[in-house]
Amino acid sequence: MNFINYYMPTKIISDKEVILKNSNLFSSYGKKALIVTGKTSSIINGSLKDVTNALEKEGIVYAVFNNVEENPSLETVEKIAELGRTQNSNFIIGIGGGSPIDSAKAAGVLINNPNATRFNLFDNPALKSIPVIAVPTTAGTGTETTPYAILTDNELKTKHCICQKVFPEYALLDVKYLMSLPEKITINTSIDALSHLIEGYLSSKSNIISDALAEKGLKLFGECLNMIKEKDFTYVVREKLMFASTIAGMVIAQSGTSLPHGMGYSLTYFHNIPHGKANGVLLKSYLQFSENKHRVRKILYLLTIENLDELGDFLKNMLGKIDNVSYKDICSYAEIMALNKDKLKNHPTPVGKENILKMYKDSLNL
Ligand code: NAP
Ligand code: FE
Repeated sequence: MNFINYYMPTKIISDKEVILKNSNLFSSYGKKALIVTGKTSSIINGSLKDVTNALEKEGIVYAVFNNVEENPSLETVEKIAELGRTQNSNFIIGIGGGSPIDSAKAAGVLINNPNATRFNLFDNPALKSIPVIAVPTTAGTGTETTPYAILTDNELKTKHCICQKVFPEYALLDVKYLMSLPEKITINTSIDALSHLIEGYLSSKSNIISDALAEKGLKLFGECLNMIKEKDFTYVVREKLMFASTIAGMVIAQSGTSLPHGMGYSLTYFHNIPHGKANGVLLKSYLQFSENKHRVRKILYLLTIENLDELGDFLKNMLGKIDNVSYKDICSYAEIMALNKDKLKNHPTPVGKENILKMYKDSLNL
């Protein structure tokens, strides 16, 4: 048996009206909270109001940063940190998709370390964050159960993960926040969760515990497959996708992500392709490339999909095509990916630049 090191300290509570029922847990983190959220969705789905009601009930004062963009930048994180440092926040609540929750994690590190700069997010792993509580309103990134925060670095022209490990203290899950997710975002984010499950299951860092979680997540996704195809996103389907996503977070917290994520970052950075779609378009060619044919068959079996062509058709129908990327573009993205040692080492066999280029080529029909 391989060495196992499983660690996932986030407490997960999933319930109807989870915030109001558990408002008391906020008070153990102090009297000043900073809420970090996106531009509008948390107002529409009621999550922001639920959190502010809970804080008021507990006599906790709060500041709100509600301007996190998709694929958040380091500049945004600095603005959040400035607000938190001024407020002297004791803890931070990230509400929304991966973008606000990741921003909350990174800003939490800067708030806890007043002299730290954005550069320290990538060179000083010892820095700790103030406590983070995550209230996810998409079912995709699983950031509520991962230690990662992925930020857009406009100087390096890519997205990358901060070097501190920031597991949220709590992940508070309520399916009601997902009911307002538009079809497209529901699909793209669910495919992000699927990518996490697949990359995690095939990772060189997978272990018996992460495998058990990945298999359960893939099975849950498989149970939703027909409803996803029909775009029939009932409460029950959204609940399964939410659990698949949170479980997928627990998987990649151990295994990391690998080639589809690393390759997808350039599609997002240079072509504005949503994160889940960017990974999803690469999945079929990634599975074709994988040498672990036994695991690839198991993935398809759990998803109730016959073969890789059927998976490719499903993904194409759900995600649509990408047609603004040229052959010259993918040559340069293959160069970038070939230098991404962190992602490459999560794939169990050697990967050359030509393998990466072929995966891009096959995926984008170039
Ligand atoms: P997102 O970028 O957080 O949000 C995408 C869009 O969805 C935004 O327009 C947002 O609107 C909207 N939205 C969110 N919740 C909604 C709801 N309930 N109803 C209606 N609209 C809603 O999307 P995401 O896919 O969840 O996060 C992607 C980010 O997470 C990427 O930066 C990715 O790299 C990162 N990621 C992180 C991890 C990790 O482990 N940390 C893993 C994978 C990916 P508003 O702006 O109005 O809120
Ligand atoms: Fe992802």
